[in-house]
Amino acid sequence: MIRVTVWNENFHEKADPKIAAIYPDGIHGAIAEGLSEYSEFEVRTATLDMPECGLDDDTLNNTDVLIWWGHCRHKDIPDEIAEKVRLRVLDGMGLIVLHSSHMSKPFLRLMGTICRLKWRENDETERIWVIDPGHPIANGLPEFIEIEQEETYGERFEIPNPDELVFISWFSGGEVFRSGCCFRRGLGKIFYFRPGHEAYPIYYRKDIRKIIANAVSWAKPSCGPRPTLGHFPVPLENIRIVDHSDEYHP
Ligand code: ZN
Repeated sequence: MIRVTVWNENFHEKADPKIAAIYPDGIHGAIAEGLSEYSEFEVRTATLDMPECGLDDDTLNNTDVLIWWGHCRHKDIPDEIAEKVRLRVLDGMGLIVLHSSHMSKPFLRLMGTICRLKWRENDETERIWVIDPGHPIANGLPEFIEIEQEETYGERFEIPNPDELVFISWFSGGEVFRSGCCFRRGLGKIFYFRPGHEAYPIYYRKDIRKIIANAVSWAKPSCGPRPTLGHFPVPLENIRIVDHSDEYHP
């Protein structure tokens, strides 16, 4: 089982009746509903208004992949919690950063750049091209998917060059944008995925839900060995060389 926590600031859904009508169970609820169709995921949700912003130690330590949606309440996450998320990622937890979460504290800390971009709300069409069809996050997708109306994001997106780039978006206004970016930090994997402006029902779409599910499977912690770090007083060769001579009697 992959333990997934869907975190949402859950602000627009409460503050704006138009957004509440689109996401009556919150953006987190819609994303969790999509993931619940997969038997290999154990899904829970967490929101900003919960104690410790829904990201207490027990939750973080029992999360394999954290999905993050935030927009206008990034500053309400205490630095200590953002740092805990960063350290969990370095320790192997997967992180999926959605839409306007490019300015969330954990993502900024993990990228080390300002992560700003160009944007406008103009109901333009977004065409998301799969540019790495062999990537696990592109599994089962067509060559491109089209969202009739979305918020427009444009380059330059001030991120470090992604380790892998899965999607590039084109918008009917003319902009392009790196919309599916993979990063490795420490033992952890991070996927930034662009669509998901709160004013459109993006997270009910089958193709978007498929991409998020693929990303969860890709970002789950690996079962590789824990690295040995720090001062190691005994030479490794002294541990490895074992004398078997008395076991051999021809
Ligand atoms: Zn937006």
